[in-house]
Amino acid sequence: MTEPLYRAEALTRRYRNGRTEVLALDAVDLSLDAGQRLGIVGESGSGKSTLVRLLAGLDRPTSGRVWFEGTEITGLPERRLGFLRAAVQMVFQDPRSSLNPRMNVGDIITEPLRSRLVRRQLPGGIDHARRLAEVLEAVDLPADSGTRYPHEFSGGQRQRIAIARALAPKPEVLIADEPVSALDVSVRAQVLNLLTDLVAAQGLTLIVVSHDLMVVRHLCDRLAVMRQGRIVEQGDTASVYGDPQTDYTKALLAAVPKIRIEG
Ligand code: ADP
Repeated sequence: MTEPLYRAEALTRRYRNGRTEVLALDAVDLSLDAGQRLGIVGESGSGKSTLVRLLAGLDRPTSGRVWFEGTEITGLPERRLGFLRAAVQMVFQDPRSSLNPRMNVGDIITEPLRSRLVRRQLPGGIDHARRLAEVLEAVDLPADSGTRYPHEFSGGQRQRIAIARALAPKPEVLIADEPVSALDVSVRAQVLNLLTDLVAAQGLTLIVVSHDLMVVRHLCDRLAVMRQGRIVEQGDTASVYGDPQTDYTKALLAAVPKIRIEG
């Protein structure tokens, strides 16, 4: 049996908010193979972002374990996480806040390549100028974008810059947390199509968090439905859509395209 790309066991994360404690993630088990495209859906506060932050090694679980390509990442010190930092890249919801306005686009996109931890993972190194040109072309941005600044671009273009930056270190996994939620409705489809094409062309494994089921339906072949820190339903996208097993999932689907579940 081959090792899954990701494996998580009883992954739990509690946060302390003043005197109250929030159980953001409640003993989640997960297995993901290379090349799969997993969508994580659920109402706001159900633990989606917490789960992907733990998978990306950006946060540490209160208990439970995560393996990436067979190596346990839980508890590894930052200096030993270089392989994960190079292999897993994230795209966040709002490119306005995720891109440093004082850096030019070329420096923003090549910044991950300059990280010492990531550099050690790229034997022989990567020619930064060449990689910049490649990823700008991959996301359909003009070749001279590198010398310009984020504010000179539209919202959709800024998200393309964020995607180019994520692609720069040639990752195996792209994690996108609400990748089009902050964008104008008119450009969402373009960015979704771009992501679809890039994932196919580069053979990426994709993890997408979204409260919008249309987004994950477009991008993902597998769905995990989260509620109150747990995965309450999962399966291939077509079966979850065609035959939802829980009332919660039925409610999420019925509320497409904009879901808002109270309680
Ligand atoms: P989702 O992505 O599904 O909206 P989150 O993972 O962001 O959900 O949050 C799950 C729960 O954990 C929520 O109740 C949220 O308020 C809480 N939470 C998330 N991050 C933090 C944090 N850094 N500090 C305290 N509570 C947090």
